[in-house]
Amino acid sequence: MSITVRAPAKVNLVLGVGPVREDGYHPLDTVYQAISLYDDVTVSNAGAWSVTVRPVGAVDCSEVPLDEDNIAIRAGRMLTEHHGIDRRAAIAISKGIPVAGGMAGGSADAAATLVALDRLWDLQTTDEDLLAIAARLGSDVPFALIGGTAHGTGHGELVEPVVDNGTWWWVVVPNAEGLSTAVVYGAFDEAEDIQRGSGTEAIRAALESGDLDACADALANDLQAVALDLRSDLRSTQAALEDAGAVATLLSGSGPTFLGLVADQDEAHRVREQLLEGGVPGVLVATGPVAGTHVVDYV
Ligand code: ATP
Repeated sequence: MSITVRAPAKVNLVLGVGPVREDGYHPLDTVYQAISLYDDVTVSNAGAWSVTVRPVGAVDCSEVPLDEDNIAIRAGRMLTEHHGIDRRAAIAISKGIPVAGGMAGGSADAAATLVALDRLWDLQTTDEDLLAIAARLGSDVPFALIGGTAHGTGHGELVEPVVDNGTWWWVVVPNAEGLSTAVVYGAFDEAEDIQRGSGTEAIRAALESGDLDACADALANDLQAVALDLRSDLRSTQAALEDAGAVATLLSGSGPTFLGLVADQDEAHRVREQLLEGGVPGVLVATGPVAGTHVVDYV
């Protein structure tokens, strides 16, 4: 028997980052939105842990580890430890979420693996325990479980759904060269005179109203200035999105993926075409909010 579970990418509509804490984490005040780029994770019983990855479309999977460093295997092991059982699985990832792009693809795989193995082995893990295991795996993993639109606090792992009355359309511009999350946070810690601790009140009101311009005005990412300083080539991506008519642009998480917010689906495809014609490769279209981690197939 095998089970396939789908998990979405995330964008941070607002990413407010406070000064680094003594435990090394940064306090976050963020609003996550799950968008329609997905990884599908298929699990089946096996004598040893293994992971394989296959790209969807043009996603570059060359940096995804195929050993115990893969977060999907770490998730599987953590679930077996939680239940005190000795079982293993083969994990096959079909990857539609750009790798190392600030869209939490690894976190999606971890969340999908937890749900898939819970079903495969009929473990009946409670939602509370799943969220706790997810939080130990990574700051973005609990949100990948719940999806939709949510307020994230702590270091991102404490998630509460928020009202979102819009259907938002995004033009997503991945970058061939990854940008390390640790490097971006390091530069953020050393930077002077930058915005820290952006609040989420304005974006939450905008989401409730469903108004595009209010949402566009409220988008904010405290990491964007340092990421643009580290990678000045991203400025041309941002400018290309603006020139093509995006209502607002935003760095996704710690980057390097850039997002353009647009009015509707037709506009999203028009902007995508314009960017592709202008020589920007790999441009994707996505909508949000979408569901969190869910089962799509039992075979
Ligand atoms: P983060 O912000 O969590 O660092 P990200 O969203 O920018 O991550 P991911 O695609 O999650 O990017 O991958 C970050 C790194 O994690 C990759 O460069 C890779 O080395 C490692 N990794 C481990 N497991 C996975 C996985 N299942 N999928 C993708 N990357 C993985």
